[in-house]
Amino acid sequence: MTSSARPLLNRRLAEFGTTVFAEMSALALRTGSINLGQGFPDTDGPEEVREAAVRALRDGRGNQYPPGPGVPELRTAIAAHQERRYGLSYDPDTEVLVTAGATEAIAAALLALVEPGDEVVALEPYYDSYAACIAMAGGTRVPVTLRPHEGRFRLDLDELRAAVTDRTRLLLINTPHNPTGTVLTREELTAIAELAVERELLVVTDEVYEHLVFDEAEHVPLATFPGMRERTVSIGSAGKTFSFTGWKVGWVTAAGPLVLAVRTAKQYLTYVSAGPFQYAIAEALRLPDAYFDTVRADLHRKRDLLGDGLRAAGFEVYQPQGTYFITTDITPFGEKDAYAFCRALPERCGVVAIPNSVFYDDPEAGHSQVRFTFCKRDDVLTEATNRLRGLAS
Ligand SMILES: *Cc1c(COP(=O)(O)O)cnc(C)c1O
Repeated sequence: MTSSARPLLNRRLAEFGTTVFAEMSALALRTGSINLGQGFPDTDGPEEVREAAVRALRDGRGNQYPPGPGVPELRTAIAAHQERRYGLSYDPDTEVLVTAGATEAIAAALLALVEPGDEVVALEPYYDSYAACIAMAGGTRVPVTLRPHEGRFRLDLDELRAAVTDRTRLLLINTPHNPTGTVLTREELTAIAELAVERELLVVTDEVYEHLVFDEAEHVPLATFPGMRERTVSIGSAGKTFSFTGWKVGWVTAAGPLVLAVRTAKQYLTYVSAGPFQYAIAEALRLPDAYFDTVRADLHRKRDLLGDGLRAAGFEVYQPQGTYFITTDITPFGEKDAYAFCRALPERCGVVAIPNSVFYDDPEAGHSQVRFTFCKRDDVLTEATNRLRGLAS
């Protein structure tokens, strides 16, 4: 083969095109549609946290390269948060790592821990960066499909056990789960933990929606289960909890040797993350419980507002217990192809959503699922559901 015939994009990334979020957000812009696709709030986070970032900038804190693992104030606040919420104790100096959002934490963890040829078991539908990061690390992804059962997406524990082979290196778990809104139960988490211990697997858990849980659901970190602290890399982020998705402040908490491994990869990805925002998020993490309760109550109301609207418009709605997404099914409209549906939706009624089908390896599993976000102002959600009501006619 001549060199000109060689594709520019390497083989590991060949299957990945533009992310669906970029495609659908561009479509929203072009058509002037309401964007319930990508999950970013249309209202910024707390004023005092914004002010803290401005103060850090003005006072010259973090304007030059901050320490590689993150500024001590933030690492201490992250450790204190894990202790206060979950009784998990981490040494801020050796067991906490600040990253450029959870996205970099996921990439660094996989690049550090996965050897080419290793299998990575991930819940499907998966957050779109997982597949690409597993591929960049040279790993093979092995999906375990969450399936709707009595109104909630459920993990089939037999399927999970069957997915683990002698080549499995780690389990990549996300709870509360994007896009389905499922919060794994204590029973499911216990089974995952027992499997990880029995098969000596590492676990990477993406917990960026830890504070966004509703009804009876409770977020329990996998690291709290017996035998899990030493094998679990827990990933958090300020973006979703504090409504500052543009700041890209994320973190890893794990046992020292795991943090050291992830830090080795992180050093050569971004070296450090933006300094002044780290000081501001240190203050955000110390906000009183009332702040987190208000965020949750507010989103709970928005979930019901959008959910009721989607049901009234004719969608089948899977009630989420966490995150700020609702997964629906378009079969009641006599349609089956979520991608085609989402491409046409802006022209049909001026709303943008995301087809879940792109988050599955199994092309059948999520074929007719469409995801909407409810992290938008009430009037925006109301207007969107009014527009969607035109679909049935
Ligand atoms: C938004 C999101 C991320 C990325 O978080 P950032 O901190 O913005 O990088 C990671 N995982 C899941 C499941 C998400 O929804």
